[in-house]
Amino acid sequence: MTASPSIFGGLSALALAASLGLTGLATVTVATLATPEAASAQTFPTDDPVIRALWNEGMNEENSKLRELGHALIDSIGPRLSGSPGFQQSVEWADGILAGWGIETSRHEYGTWVSWEGDFIHADLLAPRRRTLEAHILAWSPGTDGPVEGDVVVIPEISAGEFGGWLEGVAGKFVLISMPEESCRAEHEWRTWGRDGAFDALRAERQQAMTEWNQRLLTFGGQATVSRALDAAGAAGIITSRWSEGWGVNKIFSAATDGIPSIDVSCEDYGLLYRLAEEVPGVEREAPRMRLNVEARFLGDEAPMFNVIGTIPGTELPDEYVLLSAHLDSWHAASGATDNGTGTILMMEAMRMLKAHYPNPRRTIVVGLWGGEEQGLIGSNAYAEDHPEVIDGLQVAMNQDNGTWRVDYIRMMGFTGAGAHFARWFSAIPNEITDFIELDIPGVPEFGGSDHMAFICRQAPGFRLQSSYPEYRQYTWHTNRDTYDKIVWDDLRNNATLTAMLAYMASEDPDRVPRDVRVLPAQTGPQSTWPSCNNARRSWEEGQRR
Ligand SMILES: [Zn+2]
Repeated sequence: MTASPSIFGGLSALALAASLGLTGLATVTVATLATPEAASAQTFPTDDPVIRALWNEGMNEENSKLRELGHALIDSIGPRLSGSPGFQQSVEWADGILAGWGIETSRHEYGTWVSWEGDFIHADLLAPRRRTLEAHILAWSPGTDGPVEGDVVVIPEISAGEFGGWLEGVAGKFVLISMPEESCRAEHEWRTWGRDGAFDALRAERQQAMTEWNQRLLTFGGQATVSRALDAAGAAGIITSRWSEGWGVNKIFSAATDGIPSIDVSCEDYGLLYRLAEEVPGVEREAPRMRLNVEARFLGDEAPMFNVIGTIPGTELPDEYVLLSAHLDSWHAASGATDNGTGTILMMEAMRMLKAHYPNPRRTIVVGLWGGEEQGLIGSNAYAEDHPEVIDGLQVAMNQDNGTWRVDYIRMMGFTGAGAHFARWFSAIPNEITDFIELDIPGVPEFGGSDHMAFICRQAPGFRLQSSYPEYRQYTWHTNRDTYDKIVWDDLRNNATLTAMLAYMASEDPDRVPRDVRVLPAQTGPQSTWPSCNNARRSWEEGQRR
């Protein structure tokens, strides 16, 4: 089934948005321009049969495959850290699912990454009282060889000259190297329930404490240097805590040690350990004691890394591409539900819907499920580097990488002609989806963030389908709480349907999205330049550890 050509006939929104795009910075809610009538349920702005079929396929819970996909990827496979067996499983799974829908698939092998798995951690406080501690392994941390017991001490506030002497006594001890938080309550609660000024005072104290803590570590060369020194001195382990400023959330990244375990302890339990271990002048007290058992291991040689590519070949313009983009890899402390399980399964679902209802697209439609995003957009950049024909023929790339709430913002990234096309595409999509989306025309380019940069940096039209950001950033992004239950399925169905409809409209569009860009003059300082590309072939040794 293909679109009736009339779908691109004389839409006033196009002219209006195009003029806005040319006249400078304008943020418009395009749905308002496209269809001024009040939205009612399932308002179709056109009779286009493909749009109707995609709506019916994507928005109805009975037809949607998102829950099934989410369960398999997020619950059964779980975390997909680059190089880990979980990542490899997710590659095989995604390839198999796409192929099962009749979509051509391939695996783009672009490099290797260190192969590690971290299965279990158990951390207990033994003295002065007994309690299980809430802890996570940092990625690529060595494990323990069975349970290890030791005293817990705080990295001291001493001079650089005294550090060597202090290190001589650290063997067999667990060392706390993060700043303790005064409060592990979310800001929202302080603002709602605190006395006037209470939160501001807390924040000012915290700022001061952070400055002092950073200085304490900088005296010895900074956190990574301190970690390596503790590793070399034979400490029992390094204990960090990276609170994500919400209830029960920590951000869990990677270790800087080769020989001893590095772990993250929750804000609350870290504070407990710190208060017990803190040296108070004139007070004699026993150091707290803990026990740690970490089952984690490196698995021999580095593992090959892949992007999973799915293709629905174009019939009229096979050398022009509409590319749907999301990263398959994740961090490891939870199950990578919103970063980026949701992006992955919504792009897969959009491909399923397109294959079912638009099997012979005008342009080629490609889905790229990338590896190594979390290590610096490695997979997507490697794909772009290895596929100049896709970059040359790119109509549009659309990336999603921030969770689950409905898409509410799309920035044109400085592509001055893109807004007119998005306005055109939006004009065929029901208001129930577009009413909530702000289209930022012409926007400014981003300089990082996610895989759309692999296209933007090559001056090919790439965009981020952005969901509401703040709560994602606080609670699920790279945290121990990024789990299946956080997914909002109505919104995910909305996002998959939006993506499929945009892909369809971009494929059918009579015109190419132009590549003219503008870089805004800087208010102060040097003139802004267009973003440059990441080094796609960065290795583990170069990139991650040091
Ligand atoms: Zn991500």
